[in-house]
Amino acid sequence: MSKLCTICKDGRPVIKRPKTGDAVCKKCFYWAFETEIHHTIVTGNLFKRGEKVAIGASGGKDSTVLAHVMKVLNERFDYGLDLYLLSIDEGITGYRDDSLETVKRNQQQYDLPLKILSYEDLYGWTMDAIVKQIGLKNNCTFCGVFRRQALDRGAMILKVDKIATGHNADDIAETVIMNVLRGDIARLRRCTAIKTADDPSGIPRVKPFKYTYEKEIVAYAYFKKLDYFSTECIYSPNAYRGHARTYLKDLEAIRPRAIIDVIHSGESMSVREGVKLPTQTKCERCGYISSNAVCKACVLLEGLNKGLPKLGIGKTSKVKQRLKQNKMEESKAIADIDSSTKTPQPENYCSPNAKESESSLNETGTCGKAEGCCSKEKDCEKSDEKIDLNNLDF
Ligand code: SF4
Ligand code: ZN
Repeated sequence: MSKLCTICKDGRPVIKRPKTGDAVCKKCFYWAFETEIHHTIVTGNLFKRGEKVAIGASGGKDSTVLAHVMKVLNERFDYGLDLYLLSIDEGITGYRDDSLETVKRNQQQYDLPLKILSYEDLYGWTMDAIVKQIGLKNNCTFCGVFRRQALDRGAMILKVDKIATGHNADDIAETVIMNVLRGDIARLRRCTAIKTADDPSGIPRVKPFKYTYEKEIVAYAYFKKLDYFSTECIYSPNAYRGHARTYLKDLEAIRPRAIIDVIHSGESMSVREGVKLPTQTKCERCGYISSNAVCKACVLLEGLNKGLPKLGIGKTSKVKQRLKQNKMEESKAIADIDSSTKTPQPENYCSPNAKESESSLNETGTCGKAEGCCSKEKDCEKSDEKIDLNNLDF
């Protein structure tokens, strides 16, 4: 590192900026770091004056630095924003309970209102209970889907206009790589967006750290002595992202610009015309925005509640196959129970699964085939399934 700061030519350098290679002193680092984020906010048109903004706060380095910087910039540049902290308690003992204590301290330090929502209250399940049922595979799928929806619900309660998240440049570059490797066109398109569309059915999300390197966020938190929680989640086996992360770190060691380059590549990729992209609709169970008739959170929740936790996991075709198989097994089990426990029905009884239309009932309100068979009050349909899951387009 050079002896004097590249910017002020005066101070002692404390960090070599990965993006530019400049060796800068503490004062110039703070100035460059904050000004770049301000520039991202202004050029990306992320906020409008007078808006209420919820900062997704986990107590970790990214969201703690985001809360700090948003407060600083809001005052310095007079954005006129009303800031809130919004936290989700996934119910992970020894991890989230401790990190939420950090968020509570941040609330005092930054003097911002805080709202905490828990999975237990929203879904009736903690992550501890989910992991007990499903083990340490796919747990992050449940957690990610539930968190996304929980944040939206919290934002609706707070009546905010936007949600700001601490996704940094490294996170976004990793997601680009993962989506390229998976061939996930829809997500590839969305993951580099600095803000989600102004959709009336969802609260827009913005990423002020889109071009901010993780290394600099850590350095900023360290130099500023910010109060953040640095322990990893105890259920963190997210192997696929881990590989993308390692790959990116290797690239970065050879070429520090690699992170920004991957983001720019993701932004520049275009989708061939005619490629089918999911359309947004509302979940018919919970009303949350979804690209299917029933949202992923509701399908996962149904799986948990029915003791079939793999219900919504994996490829669409496999999920459909599993649902079909479950239904067949269920019907067979019902038929077996019926044949072993019931006395044989006279031939003129309706079949157990045949729904009699009301028009076929006589004036006494029965089908007339046998006593105790169909009536207006008693439906022959055995299934209590309200939604035909086989018809879902995952
Ligand atoms: Fe949830 Fe997985 Fe993150 Fe832990 S690592 S908080 S289980 S998404
Ligand atoms: Zn739903």
